Amino acid sequence: MRTQKTVWDNPADLIRHLQPDHPVMAFAPTVLQDRARQFLAGFPGLVTYAVKSNPDETVIQNLVTAGIQGFDVASPYEIDLIGRLAPGTARHYHNPVRSRREIAHGVREGILAWSVDSGSELDKLFEQVPVSVEGQGVEISPRFKLPVPGAAYDFGSKFGATPDLAADLLRRVADRGHVASLTFHPGTQCTDPMAWESYIRVAREICYMAGVRAHRLNVGGGFPSHRLAGVAPDLPSIFTKIGDTVAECFGTDAPALVCEPGRGLCADAYALIARVKGLRDGANVFLNDGVYGNLAELPVIGNLDRIEVLTPQGRPRSGERTGRVIFGPTCDSVDRLPGELALPDDIAEDDYVIFHGAGAYSVVTNTRFNGFGAMTRATVMGFE
Ligand SMILES: *Cc1c(COP(=O)(O)O)cnc(C)c1O
Repeated sequence: MRTQKTVWDNPADLIRHLQPDHPVMAFAPTVLQDRARQFLAGFPGLVTYAVKSNPDETVIQNLVTAGIQGFDVASPYEIDLIGRLAPGTARHYHNPVRSRREIAHGVREGILAWSVDSGSELDKLFEQVPVSVEGQGVEISPRFKLPVPGAAYDFGSKFGATPDLAADLLRRVADRGHVASLTFHPGTQCTDPMAWESYIRVAREICYMAGVRAHRLNVGGGFPSHRLAGVAPDLPSIFTKIGDTVAECFGTDAPALVCEPGRGLCADAYALIARVKGLRDGANVFLNDGVYGNLAELPVIGNLDRIEVLTPQGRPRSGERTGRVIFGPTCDSVDRLPGELALPDDIAEDDYVIFHGAGAYSVVTNTRFNGFGAMTRATVMGFE
């Protein structure tokens, strides 16, 4: 009798046995749990997970197993998902713009932490959100933004109040009797610890302007994953910079710290296994996955270049690397990865291209556009 494996040693093992003709997302729970423990041991405060980056149930379950006790949720769906999969953990409703129906949902679910970045949205919260729930104070955190570089993609263009407005909001929150805290997000895939330092210094000024002591300071997500070969993320330096700057700026009056990584936790726990459909006249590579599938964010934040090419027998191609244009499977001309990617020159039709570090903003943005997008998931022990 043939038994079907359900856990593969690595992507090569999976390819050898299955030769999948649709994209496969290979997930390594041990890698995810190790990364979660690195955050829990190194970050000087509460670690929460930004659910939107990858809401797969196995991701949530493995994070809980590793000890994650809080989640950044942005919608009623995510509130309910975490209520079901991780009951009793903290849910921070940190999408600063919500409809009145969404606010009512959060209130019904007993949400104890909200963010806000405008006066009009704060008015909406005041109408519906109680100052305490069963004796516990309800926190509202103004979210502020700065024009600081360092991230691959700047969230500040959509969310965040200026420091002056944030001070005004913080004062209103405290006057109303809520737990007054502050939050920011330095931008995703932020590799420069200085970005956090700049934000924390301004957080101190905002408290001073408002005449309010912030109960907590949420330093956002933005923690980098390993996207570029040879440029491993340096999380310990970022953790140290955050802790040192808070101690220097706030001294003994320091707010408790919270972070809400998405990408930094989940991205490196997945590899995308895509297949070569054709090498048009030996040049452009057409894959069975692209920007309408699991590679949706690449045109916005740049290529992932931790790439391997394997034969259908799972053996690595080792030819000299040359730049190629890579297209996805749909008939839309924007379905193309940015620039060129260096691929071995012996790459052939039906080979597999493995994109390491592809777990964030990928499974969750996969669409069925043009009839593609039939992606499956698989579990691997590791990636080597
Ligand atoms: C998306 C998001 C995050 C996670 O960002 P990453 O760059 O993936 O770490 C954290 N907090 C908020 C409020 C977000 O919207």
